[in-house]
Amino acid sequence: MPEMEKTNFIHNIIDHDLETGKNGDRVYTRFPPEPNGYLHIGHAKSICLNFSTAQKYGGKCNLRYDDTNPEKEDIEYINSIEEDVRWLGFQWDKRLWASDYFDIMYDCAVDLIKKGLAYVCELTPEEIKEYRGTLKEPGKESPYRNRSVEENLKLFEEMKAGKYEDGQMVLRAKIDMASPNINMRDPIIYRIVHAEHHNTGDKWCIYPMYDFAHPIEDAVEGITHSICTLEFEDHRPLYDWVIEKVGRWPQPPQQIEFARLNLTNTVMSKRYLKKLVDDGVVEGWDDPRMPTIAGIRRRGYTPEAVRDFCERIGVAKANSTVEMSLLEHCVREDLKTRVPSRNVVEKPIKVIITNYPEGQTEMMEIENSKEVPEMGTRQVPFSRELWVDGDDFMEVPEKKYFRLFPGNEVRFKGAYFITCQEVVKNDDGSIKELHCTYDPETRSGSGFEGRKVKGTIHWVDAATAVPIKIRNYGHLMIDDPEGGDKMIFNENSMEVIDAYAEPAIKDAKAGERFQFFRHGYYIADAKLYSDENRIFNRIVDLKSGWKPAK
Ligand code: ATP
Ligand code: MG
Repeated sequence: MPEMEKTNFIHNIIDHDLETGKNGDRVYTRFPPEPNGYLHIGHAKSICLNFSTAQKYGGKCNLRYDDTNPEKEDIEYINSIEEDVRWLGFQWDKRLWASDYFDIMYDCAVDLIKKGLAYVCELTPEEIKEYRGTLKEPGKESPYRNRSVEENLKLFEEMKAGKYEDGQMVLRAKIDMASPNINMRDPIIYRIVHAEHHNTGDKWCIYPMYDFAHPIEDAVEGITHSICTLEFEDHRPLYDWVIEKVGRWPQPPQQIEFARLNLTNTVMSKRYLKKLVDDGVVEGWDDPRMPTIAGIRRRGYTPEAVRDFCERIGVAKANSTVEMSLLEHCVREDLKTRVPSRNVVEKPIKVIITNYPEGQTEMMEIENSKEVPEMGTRQVPFSRELWVDGDDFMEVPEKKYFRLFPGNEVRFKGAYFITCQEVVKNDDGSIKELHCTYDPETRSGSGFEGRKVKGTIHWVDAATAVPIKIRNYGHLMIDDPEGGDKMIFNENSMEVIDAYAEPAIKDAKAGERFQFFRHGYYIADAKLYSDENRIFNRIVDLKSGWKPAK
């Protein structure tokens, strides 16, 4: 497939900045997750963008925890974030905590008060909302807006000292209540929250708001390009205002917004995903159906495929939804050149080769990969009793069905030509076994050039077959069948089936990937796989629902 040439508008901006020497030759980015859940594939997009931009320009990228909310941060989330970033193949320059800047942020707020650019406001939250106005109407100025600098300093100091209750007052930036941009109508920059913080303990009972904190975090770290998602576009004037009015940084960071990644048939919201986990609807954050990085890792997706996907979708300025099938396509493209094949049959039907000697076993040499001959071959036992896939037999064949049916001859992959002679039934009419014959002349590799057959199917030797369990996954979310406009959880998103594998599967290790010939790509579940419990997750099936654009 031809490489898609994507123009990355962020790189264009950076190229221009380098030409004009805006930040000297520095390119410094950051990835700023809030440690309140596991990262998802949308975050992967942001990680790839931030880290590979830094890489491309010989710059640096920080991992910064956005922990300005004193809500309980979980060490589990922090560990998972670091594991996920590393798994994607990136290494941060510094690992930082936004809460480490609380002192600087407080100082900056005091500076703004001294400059007459911030004031303590005692309107109730409802009043503040009411005074803010609407998109059509300007806001109203707070009666506390013109307090003296001294009074503001005293009150802010007292807020910090714990003299007031949560919500009793806030610190607001004094900008413009008539601004067409509502974010500029005297936004709140500090609020009172009497809550313990995981990093700063009970040192603070006032906490900075995101819009005030984030530009300061970026500026203190010397970030040059602060890449974020589109919903912050309207906040950019405030971002710039904070940097400019605090006035401490001669080379201010630039906020650049790009479109969030949305994918079909899944959900990209930590809050929603957390609910699925908390309600026990899925097995956990790393359930292979989840769009979390932990989930897709356990599902068997590779970091290479995820990076390729993020590269292919490019960086857009307008929100859109990407087809899940594109991500699956990237996974297939990556796996097809590195994963060995194994024979596995589902819905097994017993085949007896009636003219094959009883008690005899031949070892058949079968290639591990059609794409990559260097992956070599393996020996697969073949004998009189075999299993074939339920889908590879039809008692009454449909048109263009070239697999096994009574009277038809097919190739058993890597073995012989086999003809189905008779269907033997149980009392209840179900199929007991197929009686077939083989043609000894047609052994694979013998140079046999006789008859042609249209169908090739795979098989597993019955005596040495290894029972395995396969978990097939469907989409996490589907359209509401009742017709609502919200997607709902797909109750049929996991199917567990029993199957038989060729004996080589016994060497599989947890986390190892295979192509199950003619079925798809599978991974031995990293968490549950053992010799007693051979659980394989289907990573992706073989057919591609997505066709590259010509
Ligand atoms: P969620 O809504 O899923 O909780 P979030 O934006 O609140 O996501 P953060 O931890 O604040 O999560 O995000 C860290 C970074 O990842 C931010 O810079 C954010 O813009 C980016 N990000 C989050 N979701 C996406 C997405 N779907 N596509 C691209 N970037 C994203
Ligand atoms: Mg967030």
